[in-house]
Amino acid sequence: MRMKTKLIHGGVDGDPATGAVTVPIYQVSTYKQEGIGKHKGYEYSRTGNPTRFAVEQYIADIEGGVRGFAFASGMAAISSVVMLFDQGSHFVVGNDVYGGTFRVLTKVFNRFGIEATFVDTTDVEAIKATVKPNTKAIMLETPSNPLLTVTDIEAISHISREHHLYLIVDNTFMTPYWQNPLALGADIVIHSATKYLGGHSDVVAGLVVVKDQALGDELHFIQNSVGGVLGPQDSWLLLRGMKTLGVRMEEHEQNAGRLAEWLAQRSDIERVFYPGLSTHPGHEIAARQARGFGGMISFDVGSLERANQVLSRVKFFTLAESLGAVESLISVPAQMTHASIPAERRAELGITDGLVRISVGIEDVEDLIEDLEQALA
Ligand SMILES: *Cc1c(COP(=O)(O)O)cnc(C)c1O
Repeated sequence: MRMKTKLIHGGVDGDPATGAVTVPIYQVSTYKQEGIGKHKGYEYSRTGNPTRFAVEQYIADIEGGVRGFAFASGMAAISSVVMLFDQGSHFVVGNDVYGGTFRVLTKVFNRFGIEATFVDTTDVEAIKATVKPNTKAIMLETPSNPLLTVTDIEAISHISREHHLYLIVDNTFMTPYWQNPLALGADIVIHSATKYLGGHSDVVAGLVVVKDQALGDELHFIQNSVGGVLGPQDSWLLLRGMKTLGVRMEEHEQNAGRLAEWLAQRSDIERVFYPGLSTHPGHEIAARQARGFGGMISFDVGSLERANQVLSRVKFFTLAESLGAVESLISVPAQMTHASIPAERRAELGITDGLVRISVGIEDVEDLIEDLEQALA
């Protein structure tokens, strides 16, 4: 089954109880047992719920894993994955991972004796040098945020194999439509489903897929023990959103490609970061490991003043955090998502004051170009 067909026919096929074509919202906490321990597969909705199960099966199917898990947010998903590991474990983590991932590792899990070292994951030698005897996992995002740097997942998976580490990939930016980290050697894939998978700025959710049944059992144990599960209503909204992932991602990418090329030709833009541009340093790796380049672009307008000018003038780009929805969004990382990073560190990472990040929506691209044109003028 090809991806677009899988997005329509993957996972659970409707509702066997009624023949309903879509899985209904099973808004229920508990299930009648015919005798003690005699039930139809569901006992209590923290442990399992049919609507949540449908989205869990569906993401497992489209990521090519054996088991999926739905959580109340991307951060609940990431935290639950970290809880698979014991006190004293060390993680090697990408130095440009999502701010919330950095925060939960350095301000929460550090208290429980889980240690993280942050490295440039595009540098294979740097990763090798960071692995210690107690290292248990490598965690990365590709392309990363906001500079869209590309990490070679397969190359990193050779290191994780050799050192018996788990490779954990946050696939939020690419989505399973473009990139399947499990097929490239990762063990665990994480999504903030709040972004492209939901796609309509109306649900906060997280998904995890594992490649191995035993790991799936362990993660189910954590999910049920800690309890950060996705509710039935949100599971249903997510299912509804994900069915159109294919058509949405095609539009996001087409629009982003056009916009990136348009931006790259302008003399008043210092730099454009988009993996689809042949000048992007990660272009070849991205072309090899993914089927598309996604809908995220960052570009440098030169100064904070100019960035603010653009932000205040755009009409079709909504000033907001988050990404991956049908409507175009715009942000200035140095003042928004990455404001908590000290200015010095931001400069080191290349997150300049004039850097503008856009999540390209599925509006008519001509309107988006005209809008940016007048905002930059
Ligand atoms: C938003 C995001 C998260 C966190 O997800 P929430 O659903 O907001 O909890 C994690 N990773 C990436 C790459 C994200 O963009």
